[in-house]
Amino acid sequence: MFVNDCLNINEKGHLTIGGCDTVELAKEYGTPLYVLDENTIRTTCRSYVESFKKFYNGNGMPLYASKALSCKELCRIANEEHLGLDVVSGGEIYTAQQAGFPMEKTHFHGNNKTAAEIEFALNAGVGTFVVDNLYELELLNEIAGKLVKKAKISFRIKPGVDAHTHNFIRTGQIDSKFGFALETGEAFEAVKKALEYENVNLAELHCHIGSQIFDIDPFVTAAEIMMDFIGKIKDELGVTISNLNLGGGFGIMYVNSDEPVPYENYMEKVSVAVKAKAAEHNVPVPYIFIEPGRSIVGEAGITLYTVGGIKEIPNIRTYVSVDGGMTDNIRYALYQSDYTVVNASHADKEATQTVTVAGKCCESGDLVQEHTQVAPVTVGDTLAVLSTGAYNYSMASNYNRIPRPAIVMVNNGKSRVIVKRESYEDIVRNDI
Ligand SMILES: *Cc1c(COP(=O)(O)O)cnc(C)c1O
Repeated sequence: MFVNDCLNINEKGHLTIGGCDTVELAKEYGTPLYVLDENTIRTTCRSYVESFKKFYNGNGMPLYASKALSCKELCRIANEEHLGLDVVSGGEIYTAQQAGFPMEKTHFHGNNKTAAEIEFALNAGVGTFVVDNLYELELLNEIAGKLVKKAKISFRIKPGVDAHTHNFIRTGQIDSKFGFALETGEAFEAVKKALEYENVNLAELHCHIGSQIFDIDPFVTAAEIMMDFIGKIKDELGVTISNLNLGGGFGIMYVNSDEPVPYENYMEKVSVAVKAKAAEHNVPVPYIFIEPGRSIVGEAGITLYTVGGIKEIPNIRTYVSVDGGMTDNIRYALYQSDYTVVNASHADKEATQTVTVAGKCCESGDLVQEHTQVAPVTVGDTLAVLSTGAYNYSMASNYNRIPRPAIVMVNNGKSRVIVKRESYEDIVRNDI
């Protein structure tokens, strides 16, 4: 009935998550409220880890792309479930550090790491720097030298596979701000440069072909292209690259028409392609990293709101205003993302009313979803938006000086706060 396994309906007709009544959660913790189901997160982590054991002799590791939802508790769970961490800023590194995450298991991404971030990352013991461009390579080599450290690096490669949509295209040149192009020889030149620098050690190649991808073929194609490049480096430079990082982007279900593939199918197919290519090029089978973000936390999370004013505009639409909006979920305003909305107070009733869910910000575009079907709504009802675990809290803002909501973790009928709700005091904390 629901897209997410952790959701159900209780005898009161209320939506439940992880065995907790959402209407009660809304009462106890206030709204808007992010709720995450711990079992769903851990089960997904395990299915990725298991897929390496089952199809690749355990010769690899999933890294949780923490930009999907970075907070200390998620870092702790990733560590407990034997995942590494993908971080993209000083702030995400700091979060991991504060959570006691083993920093050698982190990969540092980003197309414009600042000198300050590089120095901070080197001192924090970040495991691998995924270098995006030559300027960064030079800067990293220089700063590492100054600190008398040797940085383990990877290169972000544009493999010429673009899969941001439901199908994928192979192009010579992708217009992207990220990484080194293969086609032009830029990537090969970068590898040669890295071999000349004293304070970096090239250990890995990386690619990331897009996000919310439902098809495995583009991943297989990208893996083959990357293995061809590893073969070329071995043949022409005599250097063996032993790690291959194939990025993230595995799709999740936001609405019923989304059809994600089981996550283990990915390693099943990719491992076959990688092993075949390793044999073809006579190079060792590489250690593989993948970087799931959205798929680890997305479906595990929902957002709860309380319905305020309802504005019926005859023959046009009905606006249902909620106590959050673009400050806690900017994805509809940003790219018209689909979401499933449920009237959590009447989850047992049929979704017969068409409504537009509006936020409370001073922006006409502050909408959570337009023309969506819910069970008839009245003032005070609890509304739930499903699959909001990824790229919601992590993209939240204080626009209109609205405090960010709390995050509550539920597990088998129990709930606990993992991120506190911001207060008005928090809002003015940095004001002079
Ligand atoms: C965003 C990103 C990911 C995670 O993508 P998801 O779609 O959330 O799985 C992984 N790797 C890199 C380099 C990214 O930029």
